[in-house]
Amino acid sequence: MTTLATMIPHSRPSLEEADIESTVDVMRSGALAQGPVVEAFERRMAAFMRLSGGVAVASGTAALEVALRALGVGPGSEVIVPSYVCAAPWIAVQRVGATPRVVDVDPDTYAIDPASAKRGLTERTKAIIVPHLFGLPAPLTDLERLGVPLIEDCAQTLGAEEKGRGVGSVGVMTVCSFYATKLLCTGEGGMVLSRDTGLLARARALREYDESPVLDSGSANFKLTDLQAAIGLSQLDRLPLLLERRLTLAHGYRAAAEAGGLTPPVVPSGRTHVYYRFVVKVSKPDHHAERFARAGIQCRRPVFRSLHRYLGLEGFPGAEEAERTALSVPLYPSLNEQELKQILAVLGENVS
Ligand SMILES: *Cc1c(COP(=O)(O)O)cnc(C)c1O
Repeated sequence: MTTLATMIPHSRPSLEEADIESTVDVMRSGALAQGPVVEAFERRMAAFMRLSGGVAVASGTAALEVALRALGVGPGSEVIVPSYVCAAPWIAVQRVGATPRVVDVDPDTYAIDPASAKRGLTERTKAIIVPHLFGLPAPLTDLERLGVPLIEDCAQTLGAEEKGRGVGSVGVMTVCSFYATKLLCTGEGGMVLSRDTGLLARARALREYDESPVLDSGSANFKLTDLQAAIGLSQLDRLPLLLERRLTLAHGYRAAAEAGGLTPPVVPSGRTHVYYRFVVKVSKPDHHAERFARAGIQCRRPVFRSLHRYLGLEGFPGAEEAERTALSVPLYPSLNEQELKQILAVLGENVS
């Protein structure tokens, strides 16, 4: 009998000795709060995303809030968010006092549906939050045509491309999350990035409460620490390798899933996938999750509950199909060979 403690977990951070050593250096320096290591992490992330700069904050949710405030989004504004995503975008919009407009997603790519986003536009729409879910870029080119500022949510996708442009480089602002099991982790953490130095200056002012020329109730203490940034910098050194490893794993998973009669992730032409999640499309996700669990593998429904269901809204066939069919199979660089063998065997098992 496999118990939860011995199961292959659905996600797990990829930590190495170098990450540990990087924090020891900060500990020895005696300066633990936001300082020069945070600044270096911001510069390196901005260079990776080919943007002018970054403002490190305490979480991805804080990054969304700061991005909205920097753009001047507040009471009386509307912001478009997709239904099939975690609650963070909706919460950030609520926290700045604006109104979230929940729209539908494409049930095959799980990305925000540009036609549904278009129907959600009003003269009060100030921004669209565009999550790149599971490692696949959203249809940025089509969303750009709607003529509303895009906030790219790169919490689950770094280094992927849509029509030759890197995710994060298209919107007016970009946010990242460095939660423990994201592509690059600092435990908790996030960043707001942009090519607009004016927006970055505003974001920088919003992240802390002190030494501001005016009292601003939108400010908070959202700072990241040097201790966390040290882990981030160390991980960033390895990010190309981590992403390459995910791609290699995904190739193997894809072949096995097809052999086993499960539909692997869709990658539309013109987009690249970095496989933050390996989400198969199946008719009975719970049934398959139990099958994996019996073999010691923890799978998950990749989104806990769609926003429209929390809110009791109707008319979201895409999000409902996604909820009915999506199952996430563990894929991350810290899986060992034995674990991989186990996962590939169950993926490839013919159950039809
Ligand atoms: C994780 C995540 C967030 C929130 O980030 P936190 O660091 O957990 O606050 C926002 N959007 C998406 C798409 C995420 O995956």
